Amino acid sequence: MRKINLDKFKRIERETKEINIDPLQTGGKIPEFTKPSLITWLDGYSICDFCPGSLFDLKTPPVKLFVEEILPEFLGCDQTRITHGAREGKYAIMHAVTKPGDWIVVDANAHYSSIVAAERAKLNIKKTEKPAEPEYKINPEDYKKALEEIEDGTGNPAALALLTYPDGSYGNLPDAKKISEICKSKGVPLILNGAYSVGRMPLNMKELGADFIVGSGHKSMAASGPVGVLGTTEEYAEKLFRRSEYYPAKEVEMLGCTVRGMPAVSLMLSFPFVQERVKHWEKEVENARWFSEQMEKQEIAVQYGEKPHNHDLMFFMSEKLYQISKKHKKRGFFLYQGLKKRGISGIKPGLTKQFKLSTYGLEKEDLEKVINALLEIIEENNHFLNDQ
Ligand SMILES: *Cc1c(COP(=O)(O)O)cnc(C)c1O
Repeated sequence: MRKINLDKFKRIERETKEINIDPLQTGGKIPEFTKPSLITWLDGYSICDFCPGSLFDLKTPPVKLFVEEILPEFLGCDQTRITHGAREGKYAIMHAVTKPGDWIVVDANAHYSSIVAAERAKLNIKKTEKPAEPEYKINPEDYKKALEEIEDGTGNPAALALLTYPDGSYGNLPDAKKISEICKSKGVPLILNGAYSVGRMPLNMKELGADFIVGSGHKSMAASGPVGVLGTTEEYAEKLFRRSEYYPAKEVEMLGCTVRGMPAVSLMLSFPFVQERVKHWEKEVENARWFSEQMEKQEIAVQYGEKPHNHDLMFFMSEKLYQISKKHKKRGFFLYQGLKKRGISGIKPGLTKQFKLSTYGLEKEDLEKVINALLEIIEENNHFLNDQ
């Protein structure tokens, strides 16, 4: 057997830069003030000290209060649970309300985790029509068409529909209300995938007309994950939160208890901060639009996806950075390294032609620093652009 040196495991630490624009991480940064409390929950199963038989009945720490009163109001739904993440929520819903071979309609911009969850639930997947460049918008009509095609093809309505709100590629926010009305008129329940919205922006499941909502704690609720939230109406709660025949305190789709330690506490500790920050969503959208404008005005890159943009997650295409990468000895990595040197991280190493970033939670001065850094990097490499 290969002898492995375990020294590598003696010190595993993370290094971060002052300004992080990684869309995966901007909304999941935990508030400093939660750290002293969090450190008391690091041991395994720490949350179970006063377990009454089910995680969701815990009074200390206050999971029951959080799940029964606080989250339902925050999400605009009747019943909620804490999950390990958005994907676990989606899978639980799919598994609970469909049977293998049923159809699900998802938007063409859906996240891979929605597709994989549907595969695991053994569903047939229909995507809405491919959206048009450069905005890649999902239209309510696309849902109508996809749902009707399934009805015509199988003789039955689809078992479920899912809308990614917003999607993780372009940060587009489709007209969820209109889409939910279409689904309702066809008798198809709708899942709202709020991995990039719940905890960032104000959102109300019932007002948008959805039957289920999932969110991601580590992506958008300032929590140390893996952790997520799941919500539904009274109508679907019974099915989704069905109890075990053998262990009546345990819910089957939740496998009894979900998040059994520190991440659940992190979600709750951060909640007051999250509840406050969603009130300032307009400022976040303003910042995102300002950033997008600067990228285009200064001829750094062009923003794809909805314009004007309504979310902090944005997709850019840069012909300039791409041209430099073709001649630079570091290839595409010059961009990552140039930004790192200037205290900025979050654009994937190697990417130049197209990349995503997020302006969430950053101050205007920090966004200015990012723009200036990009301009400096281009200036530094200008000779690669001129000698054609
Ligand atoms: C990140 C992301 C997810 C996955 O969230 P998890 O909580 O990690 O499961 C799902 N959907 C979208 C659109 C995402 O961007």
